[in-house]
Amino acid sequence: DMRRRSSLFWGPVQLEDREKKLELQLPPSAGVVEGIEGCIGNTPLVEIKSLSDATGRTILAKVEFLNGAGNSPKDRVALNMIQVAEEDGLLSPGRGDTIYEGTVGSTGISLAALARAKGYKAHICMPNDQSLEKSDLLHHLGATVERVPVAPITSPDHFVNLARRRAQEHTDSNEDSSRGFFANQFESHSNWQAHFKTTGPEIFYQTSGHVDAFVAGAGTGGTIAGVAKYLKEEAKLANLKIVLADPQGSGLYNKVRHGVMYSSTEKEGTRRRQQVDTIVEGIGINRITENFEAGRDLISDAVKVTDEQACKMARWLVENDGIFAGSSSSVNCVAAVVTALSLPEGSQIVTVLCDSGTRHLSKFWKQVAKMGLEDEPKPESLTELLGIK
Ligand code: PMP
Repeated sequence: DMRRRSSLFWGPVQLEDREKKLELQLPPSAGVVEGIEGCIGNTPLVEIKSLSDATGRTILAKVEFLNGAGNSPKDRVALNMIQVAEEDGLLSPGRGDTIYEGTVGSTGISLAALARAKGYKAHICMPNDQSLEKSDLLHHLGATVERVPVAPITSPDHFVNLARRRAQEHTDSNEDSSRGFFANQFESHSNWQAHFKTTGPEIFYQTSGHVDAFVAGAGTGGTIAGVAKYLKEEAKLANLKIVLADPQGSGLYNKVRHGVMYSSTEKEGTRRRQQVDTIVEGIGINRITENFEAGRDLISDAVKVTDEQACKMARWLVENDGIFAGSSSSVNCVAAVVTALSLPEGSQIVTVLCDSGTRHLSKFWKQVAKMGLEDEPKPESLTELLGIK
């Protein structure tokens, strides 16, 4: 009985008082669900058989692109941010409020879909180097979209600062009684708490607690922090390794490995780069956000993944498993393989398939195609393909 079993895990979770807002309960997947928000969560955990075969370890992935509103893990976050804001009186559908967010796309897509379902408007600010699939989708969901040039976080025109300012301008303009709400996924604790309340318990349930490593990239850090906090602190899996998957050019790898924030392309001590130089979208960042900070002490290691490795993994997943993944999912899978090989045979590793390749046709998958991997002689092994020992 799915309903009864799941209530064990989707019930309210105890946390400290200051973080009490933890009432998000996702409905079990059995039966009819009410509205699009009922299609969020309870995603499958798939064994990626080719990766298990290649490593002699079990590699499992949370299929987060099967979240049914915006097709990424950000559905969980968007739903929680909206619910918490409604409880705090910051959002009210009757008032005609608008949700503002700075996002590379996924969170905006989830917010735009849920805004429509709940009677809000959405206004999304995003950098103009992201795939057109994402901004087109936002338009079709009826969001107002501002695609802005890439700028450092210290600039008022950085997409996050712009979204914050637009929300304030809305609230300040006394045209009607409606307000602007800045969702603030990078700093809002509602982000990691969504994963603490849902993704973490789901993984625990689906593996019966048999998980030796959780491997994930960080964009805001919400996924890795929320899952880590649930599995290590709440479910008390003391031996579980939390591993950051970091694309080239991101500063987080060095933060985890060496305690200093500088990107791979710089020398230690030089001023850190503001833009992460990678074709990968959604993960990799050169600043410490509140959400990353929430889980930082629980992260035991980091794996750096090059764009070339990510592209090769994307191709491998199609050829061997029929999985058409996006760029961050491919980075996660490379890091899961590297992590698996560092653990004893028979270990169980969980990672995340964040979004589908269909959202990356115009950029990441173009690059994969350009590499002409189909025409190359087949490598002997996955480790040879990825250039890892
Ligand atoms: N993959 C994709 C495609 C994303 O858009 C994001 C979020 N920006 C992530 C992974 C990373 O998730 P998080 O923000 O929870 O670190």
